[in-house]
Amino acid sequence: MSNFDDLLASVPTGLWIDGKPTDAARSRTFAVENPATGDTLAEVADASAEDALRALDSACRVQREWAATAPRQRAEILRAAWQLVTDRAEDFALLMTVEMGKALAESRSEVAYGAEFLRWFSEEAPRIQGRYTTAPSGNGRILVTKSPVGPCLAITPWNFPLAMGTRKIGPALAAGCTMIVKPAEATPLTMLLLAQVFADAGLPEGVLSVVPTSDAASVSGPLMEDPRLRKVTFTGSTAVGRKLIEQSAHQVLRVSMELGGNAPFVVFDDADLDAAVDGAMAAKMRNGGEACTAANRLIVANAVREEFTARLTARVAAMTVGPGYDEKNQIGPLITAKQRSSVAELVDDAVAAGARVRTGGGPIDGPGYFYQPTVLDDVPVQSRIVAEEIFGPVAAITGFDTEDQAIAAANSTEFGLAAYIYTQSLDRSLRVADALESGMVGVNRGVISDPAAPFGGVKQSGLGSEGGTEGIEEYLETKYVALPL
Ligand code: ADP
Repeated sequence: MSNFDDLLASVPTGLWIDGKPTDAARSRTFAVENPATGDTLAEVADASAEDALRALDSACRVQREWAATAPRQRAEILRAAWQLVTDRAEDFALLMTVEMGKALAESRSEVAYGAEFLRWFSEEAPRIQGRYTTAPSGNGRILVTKSPVGPCLAITPWNFPLAMGTRKIGPALAAGCTMIVKPAEATPLTMLLLAQVFADAGLPEGVLSVVPTSDAASVSGPLMEDPRLRKVTFTGSTAVGRKLIEQSAHQVLRVSMELGGNAPFVVFDDADLDAAVDGAMAAKMRNGGEACTAANRLIVANAVREEFTARLTARVAAMTVGPGYDEKNQIGPLITAKQRSSVAELVDDAVAAGARVRTGGGPIDGPGYFYQPTVLDDVPVQSRIVAEEIFGPVAAITGFDTEDQAIAAANSTEFGLAAYIYTQSLDRSLRVADALESGMVGVNRGVISDPAAPFGGVKQSGLGSEGGTEGIEEYLETKYVALPL
C-alpha cells in the first residue's frame, strides 16, 4: 500500500472553501474508515454551520461573475476536469475502493462513468437555448430565456463517491450555478480530491466548495434556511429526501431528488436465459448490491425459474469476496457494520418466513463488513426484503405465471426508479415497459446508467432527472420577456 500512502497524503483533508483546503476547522475532525478492515484512513475536517455559511458567502460572491462567464469557458474548465480525472483514474479508483469498499474493477468503471458527466456537460454548456416566437394573437412577441438557478447545495451518498458528485457538479457548473457539496460522511476523500482537480482545471475560487461533516443536518439546515441558497439536489434515502423536501418549502427552493429504489428484474419465459443470468449478475451484484438501481426483486416466470435460479446460484456461489483493493476480489465489504446488520436482518426475516437459501445467507466473520453473496428462492411476497431496499449482495427470487401478474408484482411498491425486463418479444418489451411505473426500464440489459440519458425516478423514488439533455434544465430558470410586435 505504499503507493496508496502517497496518494492519501496528496488528498486534501481540510474543508474546501474559496478554492483551497482550509485549516480553520482542523480542531474538529472526524475519522474516515476503511470498511475492509475497520481501520482509520484519515481524519477529515468536520464542518460546522458557520463553515457552511462561509462556503455560501464564497459562492454568492462569485455567482454573478460565474453566470456571466462565457459558456465556452465554462465548457473548457469542465473538459479540463474530465481530462484530469481520466489521467488520474487509478488514483480515484483506489481511493474510492479504500474508503467505500467496492472492488477495484467497479471503481475503475465508476471513474469512467463519473468523469463522463463532466465531458457530457462540457458539451451541453454552449447549447443552453431559449426560444422566440410571435404570439398567436398577433399582438406581441414572446422571448424565452434561460438563466442559472443560483447557488446550489448538493448532498451526496457514499455508494458512488465520485459519480454522484459529478452528476450534480457537471450540470450546475455548465449552467452557470455555484455549488456547495456536502459529501457522505463515509466517503468524503473522493470529493475532496475532485475539488483539487477542479482547482487544477482552472475553476475560479468559490464556484465549488466541499464541506464534509459528521452532522449533515447541522450543515444543510442553516444553508437551506438562508434565502441566498436557491436549490438543493440530493441523492440518498427516501426518508432523508422527504425531510429535505419539507425543509425546502421554507425558502421555496428548487429541488432535485434521487431517492431509494426497489427495482424489479422480470424474466419472462421467452427470455434468453444466458443473457438474463448475465444481466441479473450485473443488475444485482454491481457495486456489491449497494446501488439504488440494484435489482431488488427478481421476478421470474415459473416455467424457467428453477433453470434460471440454478444458473444464477452457480455464478453467485463462485464470486470471490474480500478487500476490494485485492484485484482477485469481486465483492468487497459493505459500507458499515450497521449496513451489514440491516442486510442480515432482511435475509433472516425472509428465511424465517419460508425463503430457501440457495447459496450464502450470512455475514462473514473477521475484520471488515463482509456479507456472503446470497441467492434466496421462494421468497414470500410479504417479507420485508421484498418491500425494502436491500443494499447488499442478496438476490431475492419470486415466481409468476402470467404477464399481468408480473406487471402487478413489479409495480407493487411505493418506489419507481429502475426496472429490468428480459424477453425476446419486441411487442412484450414495449407493452411491459409502458406498464411499469418506473423512471427507467432496461430491456435485456442489466446496466442502464448512461451520462447521456436522463436518470431519475417516479413515485417515491424522486423528482427530476440527472444526465442527458434533461439534466441541465434542473439548474436553469425560465424567463419570459414580453415584447411588442
Ligand atoms: P444512505 O442510507 O445511503 O446513507 P442517507 O439518505 O442517510 O442514505 O444519506 C445520504 C446523504 O444524506 C449523506 O450525505 C448523508 O450525510 C445525508 N443526510 C443524512 N441525514 C440527513 C439530514 N437529516 N439532513 C441532511 N442530510 C442528511
